[in-house]
Amino acid sequence: MSDFTRERQPMILAIANQKGGVGKTTTAINLAAALVESGARVLLVDLDPQGNASTGLGVAPESRKKTSYDLLVEDVSLRDIIRTTSIPDLDIVPANSDLSSADIDLVANEKRSFLLHDALRHSGDGELDYDFLLIDCPPSLSLLTINALVAAHSVLIPLQAEFFALEGLSQLMMTIRKVRSAANPALRIEGVLMTMSDARNRLSQLVEADARQTLGDLVFRTVIPRNVRLSEAPSFAQAILQYDPQSRGSEAYRNLAIEFLMRHPLAARGVAN
Ligand code: ADP
Ligand code: MG
Repeated sequence: MSDFTRERQPMILAIANQKGGVGKTTTAINLAAALVESGARVLLVDLDPQGNASTGLGVAPESRKKTSYDLLVEDVSLRDIIRTTSIPDLDIVPANSDLSSADIDLVANEKRSFLLHDALRHSGDGELDYDFLLIDCPPSLSLLTINALVAAHSVLIPLQAEFFALEGLSQLMMTIRKVRSAANPALRIEGVLMTMSDARNRLSQLVEADARQTLGDLVFRTVIPRNVRLSEAPSFAQAILQYDPQSRGSEAYRNLAIEFLMRHPLAARGVAN
């Protein structure tokens, strides 16, 4: 299907916004699935103690023996934590509620902001056989999100078109600037993704227009519509592309993958090292 080589390290994309319910997990799961459909191999790292991405991809809570908590806090190797999903070429590092104490458990660890970076970028396991690593962040600017931003090459920011969306964004941008100056100067903003857009809702349209005016090309051309099929899919432990391949949600996440791959063609992957 594809002729790209896998000599290089995967590109690491954090999906972050400290607001909950803006579509981070939905985007992590469905962008991952759409990239796989395009021929990529993807590892999704669930970094939210709620473990919604793990559940949404069919890794039941009781089966999560080793999780991202073990990766960060217990120094368990990535290879021993990775799980397959029902989608070939999409693997996951699951999460569970253990992760909610990571901030406290790591408080005395001098390298606490670099743990995910070290685990993903210098895994000591040889080459990781993935094109992309997607990190699903928790709804906070806690140590977990900092770890994701320190580990990542770039960050994708889902933004729900509602009144205070842009205020929250400036806080995240400030955190990104701090991470750049303290730890990860090369961190890029991949783009801002408008989610749960409703063409019939005037406020939604106004906020979207405002975001494009303020942020310009930083906003993805692709917009994710509000689509009930997207919210149903996780309860069947499926990505939207499996659950309803013809839905508007599927179409939107396929378009997002195409837009993303235009900037990071599989064959040229590795420039982000
Ligand atoms: P976050 O990870 O940022 O907290 P989620 O991806 O879990 O956000 O989304 C919050 C809720 O909204 C979930 O119930 C999800 O199924 C639903 N949802 C997300 N995106 C859409 C969409 N485009 N259309 C309809 N429902 C959506
Ligand atoms: Mg989430």
